[in-house]
Amino acid sequence: MSGDLTELYQQVILDHNKRPRNRGRLPTATRVAHGDNPTCGDQCSVYVRLDGDRIAEISFDGAGCAISQASASLMTTQVKGKTATEVKGLYDAFHHIVTTGEAPAEISDLAAFAGVHAFPARIKCATLGWHAVLNALNGDAVPATTETRAD
Ligand code: ZN
Repeated sequence: MSGDLTELYQQVILDHNKRPRNRGRLPTATRVAHGDNPTCGDQCSVYVRLDGDRIAEISFDGAGCAISQASASLMTTQVKGKTATEVKGLYDAFHHIVTTGEAPAEISDLAAFAGVHAFPARIKCATLGWHAVLNALNGDAVPATTETRAD
């Protein structure tokens, strides 16, 4: 990867860290999952409203290092409108990027995190939000509502 590209990708991370997208609780959420990365002290909650099997709305909330928060922010922009299967596919592509540093052009902004592969301890930071959204989609999570649900 050229120096220019590295700079550009770092810019994506800095931008998402400075201006997180879809941040805050989602009042209409039907699913919520919490992710915790104790080795770095990162926390991330992901709120999802499903419309059928697609993500109609998503938000995240949390605290931690720039990598974890920027990655969660970027994740929310990538998975909206997607099904659980599609989100899993994106996660697999992202996981490949952060563990190998290989960044296919078609993966777009997710490639911003390719540099993480040089810092194995930070891979859990980068994937925290993704684990949370997958858990939310799999239903391995407490319902976001306190109402009693028949299903
Ligand atoms: Zn971290």
